[in-house]
Amino acid sequence: MKNNKRIQSIAVLCSGGDAPGMNAAVRAVVRYGIYEKLDMYGVYKGYSGLLEGNLEKMSLRSVANIIQRGGTILKTDRCKAFFEKKARQEATHILHRKSIDALVVIGGDGSYMGAHLMDIENSYPVIGIPGTIDNDIYGSEYTIGFDTAVNTALDAIDRIRDTANSHDRAFLVEVMGRTSAEIALRVGVSGGAETIVVPEKANINIVGELSVSLKKSAAQGKLSSIVIVAEGDKPGITYRIAKELKNRSGIDARVAILGHIQRGGRPSAMDRFMASLMGAKAVECLLQGKSDLAIGVEKNQIVALPFSKILGKHKKTDEKLLKLVQILAA
Ligand code: ADP
Repeated sequence: MKNNKRIQSIAVLCSGGDAPGMNAAVRAVVRYGIYEKLDMYGVYKGYSGLLEGNLEKMSLRSVANIIQRGGTILKTDRCKAFFEKKARQEATHILHRKSIDALVVIGGDGSYMGAHLMDIENSYPVIGIPGTIDNDIYGSEYTIGFDTAVNTALDAIDRIRDTANSHDRAFLVEVMGRTSAEIALRVGVSGGAETIVVPEKANINIVGELSVSLKKSAAQGKLSSIVIVAEGDKPGITYRIAKELKNRSGIDARVAILGHIQRGGRPSAMDRFMASLMGAKAVECLLQGKSDLAIGVEKNQIVALPFSKILGKHKKTDEKLLKLVQILAA
């Protein structure tokens, strides 16, 4: 129950897709909480684990030697039951029975929605930390895992470029990000792509535009090209785009789907740093009696925004970046 009593104990869980840097966030939440003399708990396997009471008390040593590891030691999950009000109420009862006063949820906007509902329906204090490679959370310039994912994709693209260059070929490289263009744009600008197919255009109707762009480059003496394709809501769509490109314009582009390699791996310095600051901020907020908030980054500062101000809203594709990629690809 929310009241004026100081929080004595906090549980932390990861939910949704894993992201590099989640461990650094778990470590920061646990260690900052222990520093503040709180009892700290880790919940295994997200909301599913919470509903099964799969949690344990964490010590300083429970989170030792994890800051450099990808994935999450707490494991993560998608939990259908949590869409039901009854399940969220049950989760609250379980936490009360274990004398746990608040919950920190590390995840994306789906996980945030579960957390927000749990808070408003049951007056149970919850804070969200943005853990997703997609950087698709409205109101935050940054999400934990984004930087590592972008660097992993870039590393792969640099290798693909060697082959593209040696064979004078075009490559269509599909990156993750679901319906968000953030990864595609960052990777496209930083990887020197020819152009980017943003999620809203990731279908075969883009073929006409792509063919014009690739033919224009060829006419300017450019013999190899990298096109970044955002997966959108149809991962694997790039195979169909390549086939259509060949049929309609004769351009024989190779396809590389980067897929899950973008989700794993050693978190970058940026992800570890942001995760550490955000973890500490989440605990601070709870100690100040705040809840129903999402930690985020605004103008390079760590902020805490009400879930109600960010949920249901979406970041817009940055058209300026899209244009810039095309200008620089000349
Ligand atoms: P992410 O948090 O990365 O966006 P998902 O959208 O898969 O990942 O959500 C993760 C989990 O959060 C879901 O499996 C579910 O347990 C919970 N969740 C998502 N959306 C809702 C919702 N509208 N209401 C309640 N819980 C939700």
